[in-house]
Amino acid sequence: MKTIGILTSGGDAPGMNAAIRAVVRSAIYYGCKVYGINRGYKGLIEDDIQEMNLSSVGDIIHRGGTILKSSRCEEFKTEEGRKVAVKVLKKYGIDCLVVIGGDGSFNGASKLSELGFPAIGIPGTIDNDLAYTDYTIGYFTAIETVIDAIGKIRDTSSSHERVNIVEVMGRHCGDLALYSGLAGGAETIILPEHPESIETVCDRLETTKKRGKKHSIIVLAEGVGNAHEIGKQIAEKTGSDLRVTILGHVQRGGSPTAFDRILASRLGVRAVELLLEGKSARVVGLRDDKVIDMDIHEALAMKKDFDKYTYKMTKILSI
Ligand code: ATP
Repeated sequence: MKTIGILTSGGDAPGMNAAIRAVVRSAIYYGCKVYGINRGYKGLIEDDIQEMNLSSVGDIIHRGGTILKSSRCEEFKTEEGRKVAVKVLKKYGIDCLVVIGGDGSFNGASKLSELGFPAIGIPGTIDNDLAYTDYTIGYFTAIETVIDAIGKIRDTSSSHERVNIVEVMGRHCGDLALYSGLAGGAETIILPEHPESIETVCDRLETTKKRGKKHSIIVLAEGVGNAHEIGKQIAEKTGSDLRVTILGHVQRGGSPTAFDRILASRLGVRAVELLLEGKSARVVGLRDDKVIDMDIHEALAMKKDFDKYTYKMTKILSI
C-alpha cells in the first residue's frame, strides 16, 4: 500500500479543491493512505500535515480556493529546506507527493524528485502559462470572471462614453487577456506577446470615435506594464475620459466552472494512477482533449506558442 502526500502551492486557482478531491478519493479507492499537507511547501517544512479520508473532501468540488491553503516558500528553494521537507515526508511514511500548482511549484516538485522522492505535478493556475498542456485548472473559471466584469464595465462605459482599461492577470502570459477580451468583445487587447504602441492604440480609438462609437474597452494583460501609466498616456493623447479597473484577486476566486471541475477530476485520478504505476517526475495535462503525462523537466523547458491567429481574429472582430 502506497502513502501519498498532496499539497497546493503558489497562486490559488478555482478547481484546486476538485483536484484535491479527485486525488484523495482515487487514492483511497486504490487502497492508498493519503496525507494532506497544509500551506504548500511551507507547511511541509513546518510539519503541518493531517491524514485525509473520504469525508475530508466532501462538499468541496464546487468551492473556490483550496482547503489545503497555499503559500510561497523561499526556504524550499534551498537544498537544506528540501532536505527538511523529505525528512518530514519520511516521518509520516509518505512515499510520493502530488503537487498542484504552477511552474514554480513544478520546479519544486522536480527538485524533490532529484532527491529521489517521487512527485507528480497537476497544473493549477489561472494563468494558463504552462506550454505542455492546452489548459490549466482555474483558467476557464477566471475567463468567466473577467468577461462578467467586462460586461458590467461595458454598461457604464457606454452610459458615460468613456474609454475603460481593464487590467487582467496572467503574469507574462497573455492567454487570459486574449481569450477574455475575445469573449468580452473588447475593442483593443494589449498583450505581452504582442505589445502595441500607445500611438497604434490611440489611432484605433480615433478611428472608432470618427465612426460614432464613443466608448471603448481595452483589455490589458498585467505583463505589459502599469495600467495607470498606460491609461494616462492614452488619455493625454486622445483627450478621452478614461478609467482604469484592475480586476486583481477577484480573478482567483469563485466556484469553478464545469470545465475546470471535470479537468481537475480527470487530472487528479490520472496523477494517482501514475504514482501507482511507479512513475515519478511527471506532470499531467490535457492535449486535444486527451489526458497526457510527460517528464516534468521537459514540460518546464517547453515554450508557449503565441496564438497569432486568434489575436488576428480579435482585430477582425473589433474593426
Ligand atoms: P502561479 O503560477 O499561480 O504563480 P506557481 O506555482 O508558479 O503558481 P511560485 O510562487 O512561482 O508559484 O512557486 C510556488 C512555490 O514553489 C515557491 O514559493 C517555492 O516554494 C517553490 N519553488 C518555486 N521555484 C522553485 C525552485 N526553483 N526550486 C524549488 N522550489 C521552488
